[in-house]
Amino acid sequence: MGTWIELRCEDRCEADRKNCWSDVNAGPMDLAEDTLKGAAAVIRSLYADAKKAGWKRIEEGWVCKSCAARRAQASALGRGGE
Ligand SMILES: [Zn+2]
Repeated sequence: MGTWIELRCEDRCEADRKNCWSDVNAGPMDLAEDTLKGAAAVIRSLYADAKKAGWKRIEEGWVCKSCAARRAQASALGRGGE
């Protein structure tokens, strides 16, 4: 067996459901070995994949490319990114 690891977008289930990568199960994910070392290696790899795919790390965690764009747009409109 193994340990399934997936990054979940912090903004999942917010307004824009159909475009959130986590709502459509399209986020970075992979199967790790059942060891802490194996899990850590997969997490590092998922963070790198997330960055490449346009995800953003915010204070609370990761947000997908789609939700990051929505936050940027909301922020530009002066609504504070929510
Ligand atoms: Zn999202």
